[in-house]
Amino acid sequence: MDYIKLAATLIPDDDLLPLEEYEKMYPERDVPKGAYVTRLAPSPTGFIHLGNLYSALADERIAHTTGGIFYLRIEDTDLKRKVDGAVESVIRSLKYFGVNFDEGAEIDSPLNCYGPYYQRQRARIYRAYAKNLIERGLAYPCFCTEEELDAVRAKQSENKEITGYYGKYAKCRNLSEEEIYKNLAEKKPFVIRLRSQGDAANKITFKDMIKGEITVTENDQDVVILKSDGIPTYHFAHAIDDHFMRTTLVIRGEEWLSSLPIHLELFSLLGFKLPQYGHTCSLMKMDGEIKRKLSKRKDPELSLDFYRKAGYYPTAVVKYLMTILNSNFEEWEMKNPLKDYREFPFSIGKMGKSGALFDIDKLNDVSKAELANLSAEQTYDFLNGWVREFGTEKDKVHFDDKQYIISVLNLICGIGGKKRRKDIVRAESGVKMLDYFFDDTFAPDYCYRFSNDIVNGVLNAFSEVYDPADDNSAWFAKVKDVASQFGFAAEMKDYKQNPEMYKGSVADVAEILRIAICGMPNSPDLCTVMGILGRERSLARLKAGLR
Ligand code: GLU
Repeated sequence: MDYIKLAATLIPDDDLLPLEEYEKMYPERDVPKGAYVTRLAPSPTGFIHLGNLYSALADERIAHTTGGIFYLRIEDTDLKRKVDGAVESVIRSLKYFGVNFDEGAEIDSPLNCYGPYYQRQRARIYRAYAKNLIERGLAYPCFCTEEELDAVRAKQSENKEITGYYGKYAKCRNLSEEEIYKNLAEKKPFVIRLRSQGDAANKITFKDMIKGEITVTENDQDVVILKSDGIPTYHFAHAIDDHFMRTTLVIRGEEWLSSLPIHLELFSLLGFKLPQYGHTCSLMKMDGEIKRKLSKRKDPELSLDFYRKAGYYPTAVVKYLMTILNSNFEEWEMKNPLKDYREFPFSIGKMGKSGALFDIDKLNDVSKAELANLSAEQTYDFLNGWVREFGTEKDKVHFDDKQYIISVLNLICGIGGKKRRKDIVRAESGVKMLDYFFDDTFAPDYCYRFSNDIVNGVLNAFSEVYDPADDNSAWFAKVKDVASQFGFAAEMKDYKQNPEMYKGSVADVAEILRIAICGMPNSPDLCTVMGILGRERSLARLKAGLR
């Protein structure tokens, strides 16, 4: 068969460069010895998930701790799944979590010498290499229809054989020259398939940077490399792009492990040096007793947008993921609580080999602890950032008064006090916690545990003696007075000794006041809350709390 003629017929493009030109155009990268070049290669589907961040963090850490490069490539070969704005959304989401690219799609960088970074714009290079494989007899046109392929697959399944296009099932592999040209003359659509040289009886031992040594079966599938519209499949684009973008370490999900033999063969036939691979384990969660993969349909927490909308502190999410990524991170963190996580010596060798358990309760704990390290000003900035993007109109107006919010935060978080409180888990709930400091969002639940007579008596009596100039102890002395007036023990110890002699204790009286002022039975120091609200509003609330 005249393969040169066949290649020219199948891929007649006259704008393809000789292959050496591509090698020259995209030379080996000038990075220090031992530096890794890594990439994130998402499809622009608009759905950026925790797994992307998980793997991007590993990519970014490995590149940046070794003096290498981390870039963004967009795998947009499947137009059906493409969503407008998806690329910006990937960049924005990752940036929120402090993960930045050095080069790539939509990244403004002098380093952008290995593009284009959108696969759709790389058609020429894929076609040049597909043409070369055809010229060498290593790829051929396949005219099988979807129906024919389905029928073969059904038969293979029935016979309990491996499904796919290989061996005796690879019908078009041995078409004669005459049959090929006849099909072409009839304008039958075709794809280009690899003529696999492998044998499934052979095993290959392979060292994965994460999974360790694994044994795979040699590829014997004649996989499609160019689809009928001339667009490459993932396999082919992966080999070409990671070679010419000079990726040295491919970190990707373990779902790709099963197609690794195809990639090993492609790199070898194309004459490319194989990059190193690290296949990450899937993120799992406990669903009752069952451990299962996080699912797009069932688990909103899989989407990265979930964390932004819920207002998780980005460093908390990152640090939590670091604890899953590297088993020794938690210990390091404990020893170095104030250090930036970027100082941690990240190691790909310490990444988990199987099912990483994602536990949102643990993330909440990390988030609380992270937020408790912030000053009132920093907490304000963080919450305010969230409010501007996701808050209600009322929240926005509230946050215009920075000084007021800061005084509330100082109180709620115990900033400057003896004990720092860790009540704020994330911005959405944190902002809600401030609602009762504003009349337009004050939504009291008057859940008093005493009769209306007692409640009204206490509220009226306290209103009469309340003086905003009182300090904490003067304020409390007045609460005690009111307690005594209404048959409550002014001292806890008296109440404990003879509870039957009293209606309750001073704590119960304070609770009545608290419910009127804050609308709930729990709050930070009530005297300070009243101080922040001011005299007018405090008195108005005591009045509104009457039953
Ligand atoms: N586009 C592929 C994906 O989103 C990339 C896999 C890879 O990193 O090679 O799964």
